[in-house]
Amino acid sequence: MRVLIGGGSGFVGRELTKLLKVKGHEVTIISRQPGQGQVTWTEVESAGLPECDAVVNLAGENILYPLRRWSESFRSAVFNSRINTTRTLTHFITSSQTPPRTWILLTGLACYKANVETLYTEDTEWTTFDLWSQLVKEWEEAGRLPENAAKNTGQVVIRSGVVLGRGGGAMKQMLPPFRLGLGGRLGSGDQPFPWIHVSDLTGIIAHSLDPARGPASSRPRVFNGVAPALDTNRQFTQELARLLKRPALLPVPELVLRAALGRERAAILTQGARVAPKRTLESGYRFQYPDLTSALRQILTC
Ligand code: NDP
Repeated sequence: MRVLIGGGSGFVGRELTKLLKVKGHEVTIISRQPGQGQVTWTEVESAGLPECDAVVNLAGENILYPLRRWSESFRSAVFNSRINTTRTLTHFITSSQTPPRTWILLTGLACYKANVETLYTEDTEWTTFDLWSQLVKEWEEAGRLPENAAKNTGQVVIRSGVVLGRGGGAMKQMLPPFRLGLGGRLGSGDQPFPWIHVSDLTGIIAHSLDPARGPASSRPRVFNGVAPALDTNRQFTQELARLLKRPALLPVPELVLRAALGRERAAILTQGARVAPKRTLESGYRFQYPDLTSALRQILTC
């Protein structure tokens, strides 16, 4: 299968590319930069999509990039980098003479309101309640194909939790202080911490590539990309410290996170929802790393 990956040069994209190549697929990345095995967004905008059987979008400005101050222009970059790239892809999938069979959009769990009691699944109805749920709404709307195009192309939305893996994402930022014994829970630590190992996230994307897996529908099939374990930030902190044989006694107060990242971004770390991968499991996907111990062991030892 020929797979086109928007934002495929990033943390998830690199892992996905490796996995797809091992499975014998051909990968082309869409990037802002030209390069081997890549096309640029500008080329797509002027010439349309290269011939492909599936399209995946992973593009998006890194929201928690610690060196970028939270400002109106950064907020726009966070929204536009996701929504505009997604809109470009839906536009060219819709107008293609040879449309791909599958269109997969990776979004986030911010549509599920932070709450320690409710267990959310893909069946949960939701409406917007803050900036981040508004982002997910606009992002997923931008990904929606019109009915005539949805007859030819199966649509999938994967809502990802915090992606854990080596060499990128949250672990890249968290491991250095934890290795020095300077780690600690974020805020109260009681907030749910929905996470997924990067191998499972890419596994779910690969599993979703086959349009025959889902019923023909004009609506996207939604999967929660989150491990079935329902851990809190405190449990994550304790397990990481235990496996590293280091103390994790220095909690990071919410006020400090707000001062460093701004109120909206701090909320991503200090709040969370309990989310289950109900439809992901029903689809037949089997997690390689369903619990924190196995996921963290893999990350720390390979
Ligand atoms: P990365 O930040 O590693 O990579 C995303 C890619 O997006 C980059 O390689 C870059 O590609 C492209 N990109 C960055 N900024 C822009 C921009 N302003 N305009 C267009 N493209 C841009 O992200 P991840 O791989 O970690 O995540 C992939 C997707 O998954 C993102 O959309 C993210 O929001 C989502 N997600 C990630 C989670 C995580 O924990 N990592 C959790 C939940 C969702 P290039 O430089 O080649 O153009």
